[in-house]
Order: sequence, then C-alpha cells, then structure tokens
Amino acid sequence: MISMEQSTQAQFGKFYYWENPQPDAIGRTVIEFLKRLPGPTHIHVTGADSSRCRAVATLLHGNEPSGLQAVFEALRQRITPIVDIHYFIPSVDAARQAPGFIYRMLPHQKDLNRCFREPFGDSEQDLLAQDLLQRLKKYNPECVIDIHNTSGSSPSFGVTTFMDERHDALASLFTHRMIVTDLLLGSLMEISEAMMPTVTIECGGVEDTESSLMATEGLLKYITYADVLSIKHTDMSLEFFHKPLRVELLDGSDIAYGDHSLIDDGVTLLADIEHHNFGYVGPDNRLGFVSGDLAANLTVMDIHGKEKLFDYFVLEEGELYPTRRLKLFMVTTNPEIARKDCLFYLVEAA
Ligand SMILES: [Zn+2]
Repeated sequence: MISMEQSTQAQFGKFYYWENPQPDAIGRTVIEFLKRLPGPTHIHVTGADSSRCRAVATLLHGNEPSGLQAVFEALRQRITPIVDIHYFIPSVDAARQAPGFIYRMLPHQKDLNRCFREPFGDSEQDLLAQDLLQRLKKYNPECVIDIHNTSGSSPSFGVTTFMDERHDALASLFTHRMIVTDLLLGSLMEISEAMMPTVTIECGGVEDTESSLMATEGLLKYITYADVLSIKHTDMSLEFFHKPLRVELLDGSDIAYGDHSLIDDGVTLLADIEHHNFGYVGPDNRLGFVSGDLAANLTVMDIHGKEKLFDYFVLEEGELYPTRRLKLFMVTTNPEIARKDCLFYLVEAA
C-alpha cells in the first residue's frame, strides 16, 4: 500500500509536490520537518479563496532556517490561508547535511540565488531555478516573498529591485527597513519587473533569537491578510537605503577576522565588525587591516563598472578607515561568504 506521505510527495520536475500537509505529517520540530522533506519541495496549501494565490520561497540557502521555521509554524497551527499558498523550499539537500542548516549550498554547487537570470546554465542549481520560475508562471501568484537570514548578526530588512507601493507593502509585513538595489546578480526578486511583485526578506542572523519570530509573524500576516499589496495594512513607515555598493575581495587576496593583521597578503576585518550592521561608521572607525596595497585587495564597483574604492576607504599605516560617513549592512564574519560573495554592502549616510 502506498502511504499517504508517498502519494502526496510525488516528484514532478525538480520539485516534490506536497499538497496540504497535515500537522501530524510534518514532525514536532523544524528539524523533523526538514527530515520529512524528500528533496526540493513545493508545498501547496489550499486557502479560503482558491481563485487567488501567493507564493513563498525560502531555504534558497540551506543555512538560513528562519523562513522554514515560519512555514513549519503556519502548518503546525493549521492556519487556513485566505488564498492558496505555494511554498517553494529548494535547498533541502544542503540544509539536511548534519547537523542541519550548516551549508548554504552543497560543496561545488552554484549559489541558487544567483541563477534566476539569463543566460541559464545546465547545472543542477540552474535547472532548479528554472523549474521554480516555470511554476511561478503556471500558478501566477499575485506576489512572491523570498525569506532569508543574514550571514552575520543583523537587524531585519527587506530588499527590492523595484520601488512602488506593492513592494513597500510586502516588506512592511516583516520589517521597517528597505534596501533598494539596482545591482542585478540573478536573485529571485529580480523577476519583479517581468513577472509579479517579489521582495526578499532578510530576517537577521540565525543566532539572533528574534529572526524566526519575525519571520513567523510576517508570514502569518502574508497568508491571512486579504490585501498585502497596499500599504493600508500598516502604519509603519519604511526607512529606505538606496543603491548599495558591494565591497568585495580581489582575486589573490584573502580575508581573516581579528584585532590585529592576521595575513600577509590580504584583509583582516575586526572580529566584531558585524556590530556595525545598520549602524553608521565614519573616518574615526577603524574597520580592520590591509597588508599590501588597498587597490590590490579590495574593490567597490558601481553599476557602471567604475571603481569607487578610494571614494569610500583609505589605508593609514595598514589600518582601514572609511573616508566618510557610511552605513554598512550584510556585514559577515564568515570568511567563506566574504570570499565567494562580498565582505559587506555600503550606502552613503544621508
Ligand atoms: Zn540567503
């Protein structure tokens, strides 16, 4: 006999499809829930009005569990959404590596949240991204939210590539900070212009206890409010941060974290640098140390490919300082993420 679970978790394309999971089928904890997901999973929950639907993506990065925790809570509490909800949970295999929620992606895999733009490759991650896009086309949800955790300790914020009331309304279900970026990296939210309003929610770090709480509170609003696309639902005003720039390591340089210079050819950032997330830094704030030339180690490109490093940073006897008041965010102390992605983002302080 085929069990209920097997029959409802059939695989179509790259995703397993699981319709209306019952609370007794999802386990008692988010880790048990994760173990019951057979691989990339598309969960479809029927709402009060099935003529409309909304989508949620989460766990695009396997080490960012707050969104999955929120989905687990919504299912555990048997909340009937106001419209159909499609949950897309792709990076299950990476997340399941013991002890759980450690790997952003499996070794040698591409970052899934860089695969949502052309030209599409043929790697497993590219195919997964395309499958997700196909499903969004098929179901045509009125909006999409993509829930992440920041890699370091941080307050929460939303990210959008598109500025209008619908995007503001979506973000303000979760947070009161909004980053407006025109950096196109191939992330899911970049479909906003061509498809439907899509916002990234960064819940704060995994170690920040409020991260999962805010993800759950925001998700419950998202699935139960009749209207999530107008700002009528909120009296909270968003604080905007426009056009962030990425501070990246150059090839041949390396990164470490400590309170003195730790590497010969490379950058050492202060171990507590993530405390500057969403705080101001200025010419008096030492950020770390660089051995060798600043321009041989770091780069800050604007969207036109113009180098802006010396507009924002100066090296004084091997110590790294901002040249002006800046606001930093997405500051990581994970060297792997700093090497592969970036050290942090900055915007000029108003
Ligand atoms: Zn992420």
